[in-house]
Amino acid sequence: MTKVSNFYEAKNLSEAIFQLKNISELNIVGGCTQICHEQNGDFFDLPGNILCLKNIDELTNFSRTERRLEFGAATPLAKIENRASSGKIPGVLLEAIKSIATPAIRNFATIGGNICSPGCKKTLYAPLLALDAILEFKNDKETKLVPMQKFEEQFASLLPQLNLSEFFKDFITENPEAKEKRRYLLSKVIVPLQPWTLEHFSRFNRDSYGNEYGFSLAILVRDEKGVVSDFRIALAGAFVFRDRDLENFIVGSKLPLSPKFVSHFMAKTEERFDEVFKTADFCFYQMDKTRFLNSIRNVVKGLMI
Ligand SMILES: Cc1cc2nc3c(=O)[nH]c(=O)nc-3n(C[C@H](O)[C@H](O)[C@H](O)COP(=O)(O)OP(=O)(O)OC[C@H]3O[C@@H](n4cnc5c(N)ncnc54)[C@H](O)[C@@H]3O)c2cc1C
Repeated sequence: MTKVSNFYEAKNLSEAIFQLKNISELNIVGGCTQICHEQNGDFFDLPGNILCLKNIDELTNFSRTERRLEFGAATPLAKIENRASSGKIPGVLLEAIKSIATPAIRNFATIGGNICSPGCKKTLYAPLLALDAILEFKNDKETKLVPMQKFEEQFASLLPQLNLSEFFKDFITENPEAKEKRRYLLSKVIVPLQPWTLEHFSRFNRDSYGNEYGFSLAILVRDEKGVVSDFRIALAGAFVFRDRDLENFIVGSKLPLSPKFVSHFMAKTEERFDEVFKTADFCFYQMDKTRFLNSIRNVVKGLMI
């Protein structure tokens, strides 16, 4: 038997924030596609009170200036994809969007839902991390701008999260004070725009150890007058990797890179990877590490030509 949920809508962002403050146990949803995907029973079950952001204009559109893109958190992925030819979207982000589900599902799936889904990081996480995206969160008291890199540590636990197992676990164990803190919604995703000489996006390891979307890898390279002026690597899935020291190792290098430099860089990459994930499960970690290193090697080798 399906539980009955109270489904709330808001006309604008202020109304959504008002509801978030005043309706107890309110959960935010975008397109519901992730929530739906997590359920394998005959009925679609949603807990308690649900606030859908899909009809709020401020949250379902995006704009572009010379310096940045601003996506309302409930912007459907298909909308971003369809407008990509007229307004430029960074290639790594566009490729990542196109790799998600089917066009029909992307009509509902939102950028905010992809970032806020609990558990393993979803497909857009790595490209947004590499692009130094900034997330805007709101509640009735404040607006906070959180760099993507700080999201997990500062904010993920402050969202009302509609994950059934977590929801029921929280319901039983959490104290009311902790629940009360969960009163933010993601309102905007800001992506700084910079020219990139090379943009790489790939996915691997789908369907491995309960992480059905696998890992996403985003690599960005900018060269100015034959010198690497910016270099970024982000990996996200069951774990997240972004390392400024490693990136800085290559910044300032002259192009084309020498084979000796590339092997130095790859040794450094492996060293950093080992340091960050020394506690990870050994068997899975080795498998992911090899794929991760091979993908990076292929991209960096391209800078030898
Ligand atoms: C067949 C199928 C294939 C899929 N393939 C992929 C794939 O390859 N890669 C991938 O990444 N995903 C995939 N998905 C999952 C999903 O479509 C995407 O992750 C999508 O971007 C989620 O967005 P949504 O709006 O539907 O999220 P929802 O399901 O509405 O929400 C997901 C979570 O985010 C929270 N949330 C949503 N919006 C906000 C907000 N503004 N503020 C705070 N919290 C919020 C919700 O409370 C919930 O916990 C697939 C889904 C299906 C059905």
